[in-house]
Amino acid sequence: MKDDDKKASGARTVETTLCHVGRRSAEHHGAVNTPVYRASTILFPTLADHADRKSRPVRYGRRGTPTSQSLEEAVSVLEQAAGTVLAPSGVSAISVALLAHARPGAHYLVADNVYGPCRAFCQDVLARLGVRTEFFDPAIGAGIAARIGERTRLIWMEAPGSQTFEMTDMRAIAAVARDHGVMTVVDNTWSGGLFCQPLALGVDVSVQAGTKYLSGHSDLMMGTLACDQAALPLIRDMAASMGLCVGPDDAFMMLRGMRTLPLRLNQHQAGALKLANWLLTRPEVIRVMHPALPQDPGHALWQDQFSGASGLFGFVIRDVPRPALAAMMDGLDLFGMGASWGGYESLLIPTDPRPHRSATEWAAGGQSMRMHVGLENPDELIDDLDRGFARMAAACATGGAA
Ligand SMILES: *Cc1c(COP(=O)(O)O)cnc(C)c1O
Repeated sequence: MKDDDKKASGARTVETTLCHVGRRSAEHHGAVNTPVYRASTILFPTLADHADRKSRPVRYGRRGTPTSQSLEEAVSVLEQAAGTVLAPSGVSAISVALLAHARPGAHYLVADNVYGPCRAFCQDVLARLGVRTEFFDPAIGAGIAARIGERTRLIWMEAPGSQTFEMTDMRAIAAVARDHGVMTVVDNTWSGGLFCQPLALGVDVSVQAGTKYLSGHSDLMMGTLACDQAALPLIRDMAASMGLCVGPDDAFMMLRGMRTLPLRLNQHQAGALKLANWLLTRPEVIRVMHPALPQDPGHALWQDQFSGASGLFGFVIRDVPRPALAAMMDGLDLFGMGASWGGYESLLIPTDPRPHRSATEWAAGGQSMRMHVGLENPDELIDDLDRGFARMAAACATGGAA
């Protein structure tokens, strides 16, 4: 819906919604934010209340408190979901979604650009349980129909992939899956749930590492599973069977992060586009993988399915000797080197997507890099990188070019 149409229909924009969703001030002395509930045991005053406990929204710490429920509500509204299940990390959310459909003899279809630990879970744990995983080219589109068989229960996508940034036609794949009665899941971490709503594209479950943009400050671990009505009972029961729950401080902090999600993501988007366009002008850079760039192979699909781009993208530089790469990386002032992304700070790491594929080949043609553009002034980030490239060139000149 366009902003003008929303105004006409009385619907709110996402910025406004995220300032108000999940608040329960009247239940908490007017406090703007739902407080941190530290609770395991919940007491019931009478035998009748105790007998009736299963109908209570709060009955045992592991089953959720107002703190975690406020957060679930916010994620559900953001992702247009019937309900949300929280997990203690992004990987645990992935495991829940993968296990919810697992049984001996089942067949899963998983995109070849998927997050590494998701692939590993399929190949290790699911294989032991008798689930057969087949990886597919993320560009397969409606061609997925030819891969669906009698035993196919789940199709897993990630758009764009968080290493190679290839796009996938979620809309087409979800439509085919629905025709065959197969459930679909998307890892939606890249969009933060703000720039893409997979459930509106027909997908059943949108998984996010809340660790990334939803929390946004590199200080907590969280996973979210935003589900449509068909998937919700399956996912909820699996998470409950596994005894998963999240800490109250983390739930509070993540909801606090979500209040500024649109503000942050728009800034990440602008900064990343500026850096991506600057990298395109550099002689060291062979290619930039960023679906919002018009020349990117995934651009048309991105335009169709996303309303914006976050701060994470890839690029490939010409191969240089390791010491020259180190001279560039070790001297960066503003870019950190480390796992994860989605915080307010910029990151840069070398990557190698090649070993994480089996259905398709990834020909990098040089050294792959992954950049997360934080909320710093983009011009200062560019200066930092510019100096880095100069150190790299100097090291090549003294050490001999590759
Ligand atoms: C980081 C990440 C995850 C895992 O999240 P954790 O909270 O680190 O377990 C899952 N999917 C994608 C795309 C990620 O980048």
